[in-house]
Amino acid sequence: MARLLIIGCGGVAQVAISKCCQNSDVFEEIMIASRTVSKCEAMKEKLQDKTKTVIKTAQIDADDVEALTKLIKEYAPDAVLNVALPYQDLTIMDACLAAGVDYIDTANYEPEDTDDPQWRAIYEKRCKELGFSAYFDYSWQWAYEDKFKDAGLTALLGTGFDPGVTSVFAAYAKKHYFDEIHTIDILDCNGGDHGYPFATNFNPEINLREVSAPGSYMENGKWIEIPAMSIKREYDFDGVGMKDMYLLHHEEIEALGRNMPEVKRIRFFMTFGQSYLTHMNCLENVGMLSTTPINFNGQEIVPIQFLKALLPDPASLGPRTVGKTNIGCIFTGIKDGKERSIYIYNVCDHQECYKEVGSQAISYTTGVPAMIGAMMVVTGQWKQPGVFTTDEFDPDPYMEALNKWGLPWQVVENPVLVD
Ligand code: NDP
Repeated sequence: MARLLIIGCGGVAQVAISKCCQNSDVFEEIMIASRTVSKCEAMKEKLQDKTKTVIKTAQIDADDVEALTKLIKEYAPDAVLNVALPYQDLTIMDACLAAGVDYIDTANYEPEDTDDPQWRAIYEKRCKELGFSAYFDYSWQWAYEDKFKDAGLTALLGTGFDPGVTSVFAAYAKKHYFDEIHTIDILDCNGGDHGYPFATNFNPEINLREVSAPGSYMENGKWIEIPAMSIKREYDFDGVGMKDMYLLHHEEIEALGRNMPEVKRIRFFMTFGQSYLTHMNCLENVGMLSTTPINFNGQEIVPIQFLKALLPDPASLGPRTVGKTNIGCIFTGIKDGKERSIYIYNVCDHQECYKEVGSQAISYTTGVPAMIGAMMVVTGQWKQPGVFTTDEFDPDPYMEALNKWGLPWQVVENPVLVD
C-alpha cells in the first residue's frame, strides 16, 4: 500500500525498519538510506527473506538537501521517516518540501555546531524570552508550519516514546478521562542493566547533551529552570521497583504547554543510577561533554564526538541488557465535578525486545512508535497539511496500534502521585 523512505540506520532506525517489515500490509516497500550504507545493506540482508516488504538501500548524506531531494524524487515514497539525528531535521524537512512528500521524525531540531553565531544569537534571545536554555526546541520546526500547509503536506514531529507516545497518552487522557487536566508528570524509568560501567541507551552525543542541560518544567504557562539534576524524587515503578528520578527539561513539555494551555503544571522525570551520574559529572567536569571544537595534535576535535567514539554503540547493547523500562504519564484533574488521577504507562522488557528484533528496549520503545507514526500518516489517519506533534490528532488509532505492535499500555486509577 505504501512506500517509506527511512533515513538513518542506527539503534532506533533498526527497530523501525524491523517493525515496518512486520507490517507489510501497510509498508509494501521501504528504502533504508543512511550515511554508512553497509549498515543499510546488513539490515536488508537480515530481513529480506522474512518479510513481504520490498527493501531497497541507498547511501545518503542527509545534510545535503540537493542530493536528498534527488533521492526522494527518484524513489517517490509516500513519506520520509527521519530516524537519523536531530541535526538533520531541517535539511530533511527542506528536501521533503522540495520533493512534495510528508515528513515524520522522533526528536526536535538541535544544531550540531552550537557555536554557530547565527544560531547562537537566536538561541540566546529564546533563552531570555522563554526561560529555558536547552539546545533543542520546537521553534525551528514550527516555523515550517506555513510551508507545509501551503504545500498540502504533513510533518509529524516527535513520534518516539518520549516525546511521542507520552503526548498521545495526554491526548487520550483528555479525550476519555478528564474534563480538565491540571497536572501532567511524565515518568521515564529505565530499570535495565547492560553491565558496562557507563553507556548511553541512544546516541551518546544527543543523550548526554539532553541530560546534562539544566532542568525545567512549566507552571501556569511559564518555564521554571533549575540546575541540572537538582530536583530528585523516588518512585516505585510497576515491573521495575523503587528508583531515583530527576527532573529534566524535555521536548514534550514545550508542545503540551502550547497545545494544552489549561494544564497548570507539566514536569518530566527520568531515572538515573548513581554510577551514571558520577560518570557524567566527571566527564562534564573535565570538559568531555563540550560541543566546542579543540585543537589536539594539529587536529580539530569536538570533545563530545570523541567521547561518542569511545562509548559502546547503543545498537550493540541488545544482547547484554536485562531488566525492564516503565514509561508513562500521571495526570490529575477533574471529571464530572470530581477530582481524578490516572497513570497511563507501558512496561517493556529489554530481553523480550532483543528476542523479537535484536535490540534493547530504549531503541524498541522509540522505533515502534516511529513506525506507528509513519503508518498514521501514510494510511491517512493522521494526515493534515501543516506541522504537528502527536498530541494534536485523534489518539485512539495510535493507542490501538501500540497494543498491536508491541507496546501494550495500561491505565491505573488513583496512582501514587509525585510531590
Ligand atoms: P544512532 O546514532 O544509533 O543512529 C543515527 C543514524 O543516523 C546512524 O545510522 C547514522 O549514520 C545516521 N546519520 C547521522 N548523520 C547522518 C547524515 N548526515 N546523513 C545520513 N545519515 C546520518 O542514533 P539513535 O538510533 O540512538 O537515535 C536516532 C534518533 O532517535 C535521534 O534523533 C534520537 O534523538 C531519537 N530518539 C528519540 C527518542 C524518543 O523517545 N523520542 C528516544 C531515543 C532516541 P552512521 O551509521 O554513519 O553513524
